[in-house]
Amino acid sequence: MAFFDDVKKLGKNVAEKGKDAIEITKLNSQISSEKDKMKDLFSKIGEQVFLNFKNGNDQGFGEWCVQIQEMEAKVEELKNKVMEIKDSTKCATCGAEVSKETAFCPKCGAKVN
Ligand SMILES: [Zn+2]
Repeated sequence: MAFFDDVKKLGKNVAEKGKDAIEITKLNSQISSEKDKMKDLFSKIGEQVFLNFKNGNDQGFGEWCVQIQEMEAKVEELKNKVMEIKDSTKCATCGAEVSKETAFCPKCGAKVN
């Protein structure tokens, strides 16, 4: 049977092969789109697990959650370095990034420094 299938495949004309290629491209793009949606949901599940961890519910992912917390701290540290280089500071009222030369926060209007 495999032999006849092969013969059939060989016998397919160019137009059919072209149609197949288009169909395959369409299907592959649908697969990617479904996978993207799955990734999005996986990410949401992960965020919820992390929130649960912060609220004291470990759910067996404590080690990973601790790693995420360390990364959050690292991101904060790096952001502060960027602010230092840009010579800006954080608004004490709303947390917005504000130039040290500015007297009032452009976001909330609070006095800076
Ligand atoms: Zn502000």
